[in-house]
Amino acid sequence: MNVTTLPKPPRVGLVSLGCPKALVDSERIMTKLRADGYAMSRDYAGADVVLVNTCGFLDSAKEESLEAIGEAIAENGRVVVTGCMGREAEVIRARFPDVLAVTGPQQYEEVVAAVHEAAPPSPSPFIDLVPEAGLKLTPRHYSYVKISEGCNHRCAFCIIPSIRGDLTSRRPDAILREAEKLIAAGTKELLVISQDTSAYGVDLRHASYPLKGGGEVRAHMTDLARELGKLGAWVRLHYVYPYPHVDNVIPLMAEGLVLPYLDIPFQHASPKVLRAMRRPANDAKVLERIRAWRALVPDLAIRSSFVVGFPGETDADFDYLLNWLEDAQLDRVGAFKFEPVEGAAANALPDPVPDDVKQERFDAVMALSARISAEKLAAKVGTTIDVLIDRVDDLPSPPSGGEGDSPQASGERGQFNAHLDAPHPAHHHAVGATGRSKADAPEIDGEVHLRDAGGLKPGDIVRVTIEDSDEHDLYGVPA
Ligand code: SF4
Repeated sequence: MNVTTLPKPPRVGLVSLGCPKALVDSERIMTKLRADGYAMSRDYAGADVVLVNTCGFLDSAKEESLEAIGEAIAENGRVVVTGCMGREAEVIRARFPDVLAVTGPQQYEEVVAAVHEAAPPSPSPFIDLVPEAGLKLTPRHYSYVKISEGCNHRCAFCIIPSIRGDLTSRRPDAILREAEKLIAAGTKELLVISQDTSAYGVDLRHASYPLKGGGEVRAHMTDLARELGKLGAWVRLHYVYPYPHVDNVIPLMAEGLVLPYLDIPFQHASPKVLRAMRRPANDAKVLERIRAWRALVPDLAIRSSFVVGFPGETDADFDYLLNWLEDAQLDRVGAFKFEPVEGAAANALPDPVPDDVKQERFDAVMALSARISAEKLAAKVGTTIDVLIDRVDDLPSPPSGGEGDSPQASGERGQFNAHLDAPHPAHHHAVGATGRSKADAPEIDGEVHLRDAGGLKPGDIVRVTIEDSDEHDLYGVPA
């Protein structure tokens, strides 16, 4: 019998930097490459070409991107660059003249074409298989779902609109189809992401689109969240600005359709600083609204990020922020020190805050939020909560990033989340598995550590009785 020898597929290594949105782009690119017959390489040495998906959000992220490119050149030599920093092709080429190609964000066709040129595919019907939900870089049990691109705001410190353009929403029926496929492939948690989730559908004039099984869905955050919730997975909403209609999402949480979780990037509390930042949904009554939300959904977890040391921020502005944080009792807080980004309007503002003052303010925000977090988590000791298992101890851990095929969603996250910098305290429990409660988004929030977790596997949702807590994490045992 003749056996067809399959050509060896070319191998692509991937280094993915930046925010969860960039991670979704990486997934899309890899899905296409996989469909074209490419295999992934776990290390530089085995890769025919290395793709570096860069982040250009902050100058420090750009430097991190350049370092990643340099490492890939040194380790492999055949490097294609894409992502936000691809907008600055001259900077990249000046430093690394040997880079094979540079493409910008969302230029899927171009980046795929560049990989084809660097390592031509070996087409074969036998290897051109794609798993039903695409080749995912995140663990199968949770998936990021990008609902729109771009942003209609022009916050003074941000260059995203100039990179990604104005808001462009995906059709709600297409998003729902993708979510259904992800769930069929094992996803237990959908993480809804965009630059401005509350604005979803504005560009589509909130039109209605027919649904597969009859009925229709409006291109609106509330309607989309409700339909996603009906699919049965956990639905977590990120980057929600507190526009008035966000109040309508809270009842969906009370009904159990959407997780009682809101990621709202407030960035500051002082009305004066918020005005200078040109922030959207700058609502002086937001504290009252948070109280009203919590009255409806007592276990609502709110995560946010804050900028300290924005130009013109006075001691009084900063005290306002600290008092506000004490009142708001947010569950998770990340902070970052203002950093001028090339091209941002804020760079022209007067009264920069000296670095030592920025650092003091940063430390004060982190100390306060660590105390609030510790108190809130301590209040959960003795309760029983749902936990989605991410890792089980006796399974091999996923390969770490920088070696070819593993994402490093580190840029924005690393900047915004001081708890990632703080060492977790040593704990006396023998840990058997690690997961997350409904209050914890992957990578950016806390975790729940379980002992006696025999028989559990990633993706399981279990009831856990909480026995202990610290500033960030909970410790418990299956109930
Ligand atoms: S809302 Fe502001 S910070 Fe967010 S992407 Fe738009 S302009 Fe940037």
